[in-house]
Amino acid sequence: MSETLFSKIIKREIPADIVYEDDLSLAFKDINPQAPVHLLIIPKKAIATINDLEEGDRELVGHLFLVASKLAREMGFDDDGYRVVMNCNEQAGQTVFHIHLHLLAGKPLGWPPYTDRAKQA
Ligand code: AMP
Repeated sequence: MSETLFSKIIKREIPADIVYEDDLSLAFKDINPQAPVHLLIIPKKAIATINDLEEGDRELVGHLFLVASKLAREMGFDDDGYRVVMNCNEQAGQTVFHIHLHLLAGKPLGWPPYTDRAKQA
């Protein structure tokens, strides 16, 4: 798999506003935030898309959600609410091919979360 932007953030080759790190994962602020809080939670293991997950990644994916829950609690928006989402491939708008959870909070979030790009075209 070719190296992505996020691998470079893990290796500190490019800067990011990192808010959390442990052995398995890293969380940093999204460079183009879509809500007052917009964090990306990524595994240190490079996995391109949800389609590339293997049985052995079961705990790792669970871990990403536990990090989301921990950050929500520590940052104080757990009770108000938040959204966790992972995009997969082109039609979902995935642009960085290293899986990442978006953690969005800090305002009422609309649903459904998408704009219909097909209709806009
Ligand atoms: P996705 O579209 O689901 O693949 O999400 C990729 C996200 O990465 C987008 O929300 C981008 O704003 C974000 N992003 C791209 N480059 C950077 C960067 N250097 N630092 C932080 N976030 C980034």
